[in-house]
Amino acid sequence: MPHWMKGPQEKPKLLLVDDQRINILTLHELFREECDIFMAMSGEQALEACQKVLPDLILLDVHMEGMDGHEVCRRLKKDPKTRDIPIIFVTAQGAEEDEVLGLELGAVDFIAKPINPVIVKARVNTHLTLKYQSDMLRSIALLDGLTGVANRRRFDEELARIWRQSLREKTELSAFMIDIDYFKRYNDHYGHMRGDTCLRSVAGALEAAVNRPYDLLARYGGEEFVCLLPNTHLRGAVVVAERMQACVQALQLEHSASEIGQRVTVSIGVSTMIANAIDGPQVLLEAADRQLYQAKQAGRACIRSGS
Ligand SMILES: [Mg+2]
Repeated sequence: MPHWMKGPQEKPKLLLVDDQRINILTLHELFREECDIFMAMSGEQALEACQKVLPDLILLDVHMEGMDGHEVCRRLKKDPKTRDIPIIFVTAQGAEEDEVLGLELGAVDFIAKPINPVIVKARVNTHLTLKYQSDMLRSIALLDGLTGVANRRRFDEELARIWRQSLREKTELSAFMIDIDYFKRYNDHYGHMRGDTCLRSVAGALEAAVNRPYDLLARYGGEEFVCLLPNTHLRGAVVVAERMQACVQALQLEHSASEIGQRVTVSIGVSTMIANAIDGPQVLLEAADRQLYQAKQAGRACIRSGS
């Protein structure tokens, strides 16, 4: 499973926000078994915790000294990073206007104090389940169905994001275009079922060669894969490309229609640049594609690199 998908074995992250210690302790006691719990005792702390841990659900006290719960909610909803975190407001008994305002601000639910453990548990579980399901759907929508690596849509999103990051931080960004050699011949010779199996195996080998959690391997289309390495200079990128070739080679997949040792091999084009404000991220891919073309021209099963 790709690193950016959350595994079901991971506990949901619950953020408890209340300016009264006793309330936090009560809630903590209720959820400490099934959740990873984070706590904040002010609006400011809550915002900070959200940036740091990106909780799956927030139980947010409305009335707090300084920044109140409503203001915290407003700010979270303004930030694309935190706007999808579901919020349950914890309000005083009978404070209907607080509830109305909370729902208008985008809260998913509210709970009245004093806390009734059965009600709180039921509400929290419902919203954690909904959150998990929507995360899963989003993850699946961004996966390549055949190989299980990221798909083109996810890649395009990530490329745009990393390009902006490189532009902001003036850091080098590397990209690979990776192509399975003589893959059409493979399909013609072994059939499409074996072709699919081959794609899956190669994807697995390529992914095994990528170590850092923020590097991204994706299926670009057909037998072509693409890889993004933020904050990586050309030499570093070539090392990863060499590791990819070694991992594919280690599979020892038979390919009797290939002219290269009758084994499945890949050609890789590597390019590195610092993002600029004039070009779009497409120039990085075009450069990697030119290098891939050079690798094919040079006899395949090799790496070519340049900017
Ligand atoms: Mg309070």
